[in-house]
Amino acid sequence: MRKKCRRICTNRRRERVRNRFCCFVLLLAGVLNPVHGYAWGFSAHRKIIDAAIHHLPSPLHAFFKAHGPWLHDHVNDADLRKHTVIDEGIRHYIDLDRYSPSMDSLQVWFPMAYDEACERWSEDSLRAHGIGPWHALSTYRRLIVAFDQKDEAAILRHGADLAHYISDLHVPLHTSANYDGKLSNQLGIHALWETQLPESFMDGYDLFPSGPQAIWIENTEEAIWQTVLTSHACLDSVFAFELETRKAFDGKPIDAYVERGRTRQLMRSPLFAEYYHEVLDGQVERRMSASSALVSSLWYSAWIEAGAPEMAMKAPDSRTRWKKVLDWLFK
Ligand SMILES: [Zn+2]
Repeated sequence: MRKKCRRICTNRRRERVRNRFCCFVLLLAGVLNPVHGYAWGFSAHRKIIDAAIHHLPSPLHAFFKAHGPWLHDHVNDADLRKHTVIDEGIRHYIDLDRYSPSMDSLQVWFPMAYDEACERWSEDSLRAHGIGPWHALSTYRRLIVAFDQKDEAAILRHGADLAHYISDLHVPLHTSANYDGKLSNQLGIHALWETQLPESFMDGYDLFPSGPQAIWIENTEEAIWQTVLTSHACLDSVFAFELETRKAFDGKPIDAYVERGRTRQLMRSPLFAEYYHEVLDGQVERRMSASSALVSSLWYSAWIEAGAPEMAMKAPDSRTRWKKVLDWLFK
């Protein structure tokens, strides 16, 4: 009997480890394969976090700075959740061109409360086209509650998620149904604009102006929607300049194996990326800079809305990322 029990326990343990391992592989696959909704690269998301922390005044600066490594580790949790949480995927974008091709109409309609938008277009249609701005706003409200309750774990969790969603909404291709150029024969433009360009050139970007830059935003709904509309207005240049770059490379190869960390991947060639980056004339830098400024201001505004509570700082967890993965995998 005891033997049987032990066998069952061992089998269950094996099954649990196997399930967790499968989940881990899925997460890894998700990281390596861009789909609609992935934004910036991991390193660009982390750079935005660093710049957002840099913009904060005291005492928030000290709190977020102390937890910078945790935020680095978790700023992309929202992307990883797409493989385990139903509906996570639609929180990272909004296909504004599904509503109207006219920028004027979009500017008249938005911001619009979620319930009102559901009445006008139906909830199914909203969900089919992405709910990025509405979800970013609800994450911001959760962050206010977390500050109000002085719940450090919740502050960090919602702070990291808010940074992720807001950064995603600064990517023009996250506001279009043509998010990877499939509808205009420009496949691959998504990874090129949001991952390859920042990874290649962000070291030269000016994302750390001196002194705190965060401001209190009274109407956060308006600020988030204006960001999305500005991203959408950038799309013309995103597509037109990519076509111009393709024309300049007419007859020449535009792809090459490029070293990325410890891997070699087939991407646009460094020369193609450099030409495109040049004709975009600072667009990627401007979107990254705006992203870090808004993330910082939203963290700050949520803290002010919660009555500017005192922030206690615990020593950050000293376990390495891989140790945490292994702990989680074999728990
Ligand atoms: Zn995302």
